[in-house]
Amino acid sequence: MAYVISEDCIACGSCIDECPVSAISEGDIYKIDPEMCTDCGTCADVCPTEAIHPA
Ligand code: SF4
Repeated sequence: MAYVISEDCIACGSCIDECPVSAISEGDIYKIDPEMCTDCGTCADVCPTEAIHPA
């Protein structure tokens, strides 16, 4: 299991510093490395567009 960032991402950067395992990388739409994600949900809580959901 891993969280996934959808097309609703506006690349605001709110989530990237919140991830405890640095699984999130920048881009036009930010991306979560499924190998690194521990499914903690912290990023989903801070996303202003609710773009992050469990896969
Ligand atoms: Fe990082 Fe937690 Fe979001 Fe996974 S769910 S990308 S571990 S903040």
